[in-house]
This record gives sequence, structure tokens and C-alpha cells, in this order.
Amino acid sequence: MEELNLNEHQLLAYLEQTEITDQCGGHPDFLEWNNETPELIEKLVKIGQMDVEPAADQYNLPYWGKDSRIVLDKYPYYGCDLFQCRECNALFFYYLELGGHGAQKRYRMLRSSLFEQYPD
Ligand SMILES: [Zn+2]
Repeated sequence: MEELNLNEHQLLAYLEQTEITDQCGGHPDFLEWNNETPELIEKLVKIGQMDVEPAADQYNLPYWGKDSRIVLDKYPYYGCDLFQCRECNALFFYYLELGGHGAQKRYRMLRSSLFEQYPD
């Protein structure tokens, strides 16, 4: 399959169409940003990347927390790759965190309730 370049509307449409099962128990460790685990990597396949221009005030979005919002033109979402779980179909953002303690591969599961906007 060819990898997708997704803008905000396309991503939300894709998320709406995706039927997520409870086979993985909802990946609770990845409700918020977390470093990759071998168990997670084994299940994921890359499906594309975001194609969104960063906002001028891209760094003012709260980052940590299970309920922190997803705003696609803010850091780090606009530069993320998109992965999907082969077992439960859940979608994940991925990016390489280079600040602080050396490179860390971080993943966060997408939930439509965290977006401000929904597809028409
Ligand atoms: Zn899964």
C-alpha cells in the first residue's frame, strides 16, 4: 500500500472510518505520549504521515496527559508519522523526540474526542 500524506480533514475522516476493536485492551499506556515498547512495535505498520503546516505559535499546546488535546498544526503533531495496529486497528502518532535525554521514539494513540474539529 502506498503511504498517505494526510491533512487534518483526511486524518479525521480516516479516523472516523476506522473500526477499532478491543483486542489490545485499548493500549492504555499510549493514551498519552510514551516511548515505544517492543510489544507495540511488533503490532504497528506505518500507513503515512501528516501533511500540515506548523502554526506560528506551535509550541503552546499542553503536551503531557491522557486528555491533552490534539491540534494538528501544533508541535509535535504536524510532523508525525501515522501508524496503525494490525490487531485492533488503533491509529498512532509517532515522532522522534530529540530534546533532553537523547533520542526517544514516542507514540500516542489517536482518539477522536481529543480533536477540536470533526469531519463534516
Ligand atoms: Zn492494538
